[in-house]
Amino acid sequence: MSDNEIPEVERIKRDSRHLRGTIAQGLLDTRTGGISDADKALLKFHGSYQQDDRDLRDERRRQKLEPDHQFMVRARLAGGVLTTQQWLAFDELATKYSSGSLRITTRQTFQLHGVQKQNLKKVIAGISQLQASTIAACGDVNRNVMSSANPFESPVHAEVTEDARRISAHLSPQTGAYHEIWLDKELIAGGETETEPIYGKVYMPRKFKIAIAIPPRNDTDVLSNDLGFIAIVENGVLKGYNLSVGGGMAYTFGNSNTFPRVADVVGYLPKEKIVEAAEAVLVFQRDHGNRSDRKNARLKYTIEKYGLDYFKSELLRTHKIELEVAKTYQFETQGDLYGWKQGVDGYWHYTLFVEGGKLTDLKGITTKTAVREIAQIHDGSFILTGNQNLVIAQVSQANKAKIEAILRKHQVVESNSISRLRQHSIACAALPYCGLSFAEAERYLPTVVDKIDVILKQLGLFEEPISIRMTGCPNGCGRPFLGEIALVGRAPGKYNLYLGASFRGDRLNKLYKEMLNEEEILSSLEALLTDYAQNRSDNERFGDFVIRKEYVKAVHHATEFHH
Ligand code: SF4
Repeated sequence: MSDNEIPEVERIKRDSRHLRGTIAQGLLDTRTGGISDADKALLKFHGSYQQDDRDLRDERRRQKLEPDHQFMVRARLAGGVLTTQQWLAFDELATKYSSGSLRITTRQTFQLHGVQKQNLKKVIAGISQLQASTIAACGDVNRNVMSSANPFESPVHAEVTEDARRISAHLSPQTGAYHEIWLDKELIAGGETETEPIYGKVYMPRKFKIAIAIPPRNDTDVLSNDLGFIAIVENGVLKGYNLSVGGGMAYTFGNSNTFPRVADVVGYLPKEKIVEAAEAVLVFQRDHGNRSDRKNARLKYTIEKYGLDYFKSELLRTHKIELEVAKTYQFETQGDLYGWKQGVDGYWHYTLFVEGGKLTDLKGITTKTAVREIAQIHDGSFILTGNQNLVIAQVSQANKAKIEAILRKHQVVESNSISRLRQHSIACAALPYCGLSFAEAERYLPTVVDKIDVILKQLGLFEEPISIRMTGCPNGCGRPFLGEIALVGRAPGKYNLYLGASFRGDRLNKLYKEMLNEEEILSSLEALLTDYAQNRSDNERFGDFVIRKEYVKAVHHATEFHH
């Protein structure tokens, strides 16, 4: 391929001297709040996106000012586990240098929005000093590795979280650029002779996502990931994992060559092989993924192109990974278990509902301050869940009442006071910061749910678990196509409504109606929910009901998503 035929991002990566580019120089340029386009692409690998406040865009344009450039910073926290000291430090960084809120993402990590260029280095260096990192939290690399929440729930959970950490460490980029740029470890020029043993010079064709789940809970939506591991436990002992490949949520409106996909479960491997298997699958995608069209570059398209037999033969050829027949397993829910639960060791664990993953102090509900106060007395851990919630883990009997008192004092919403639909809601960050968003999500979903709640109460469905997800575009950050109800932004105030995903995270939903405004969303849902309240079978989930009643067809394979 001639240089002109190579897509720009591939050239930027290739010529970046292992992700250095001119980021260090760009940070020092005080004439602009932004950085160059090439550095923007490279910065993602360091865990940050350049964004701008879209609420201010028109006004700044009128005033002939450049956009209000700001940076999003995302941490890499395998399995979402934090110490109390780390929590307090993230809280301080968010308060000092970002828009103020702490946001829990759908991949068990934090992201801070609204960081100014002059503070970017302080924030990334600050996170690095916490025995955490931001490296590879974004970019064409393996992202934050997810695992079923709460390693303190059982020895199996602990082992699985440790496996997530080992995969994360093994697949982290090795470039010295991160230390040089953010931690002043010199060698900005000349460091390019180092190698990236796994990634090479051009890294991955696109992002690569890995998650682990422990049945019967699928709280990581494991099948939405490029690579998934489903824990196989016998008599309380972790034996190994079923391996799943080719999941992914994003598609592009109007482009039927793009589609969300639920991963295929392709086989089983013993526990000891998990890191090697992760590397083998990543290497397969590195070498076979489409590098000429980023919209068709994820592993799901590679699997569709080459087929599973060839994929398995490559695992054997490159890494001697031979998969056994997949073991039987059963998922029951994608959701989190809210409230207090006592572990076998006597410690308590509290799962706190965090709407849209946003910890703030607003309207008299001071959740961010409450968790800060808890962190000051808590001697256990915190765990961020894949559903944007927070587990306060390893609480001693003595601290349980104190924590309850803090939550009450700050009027923190108790999960048992809200609808089960709200408990199972997810929203992506969307406006005002995400440059790809067509419509609101995290700022708007709570209002929509308020209105759906009225309908649910009238119909006696307030206690019925139904999952709902909203995103500002079809890129899939909030895993919308695995929601029993999904609202995906098409234009300001207009959404596509998708229905029919399973509550277990193993079947996609399908487009029901397009370009709905709020009134149309509510009237559509009212009709569907009324039918559901009157005609559902025993224990029938909403996602299954709309298929039985033929509101939408079941999507058994990604190719059926559009047809
Ligand atoms: Fe932005 Fe779209 Fe992702 Fe939402 S789903 S955060 S709008 S890219």
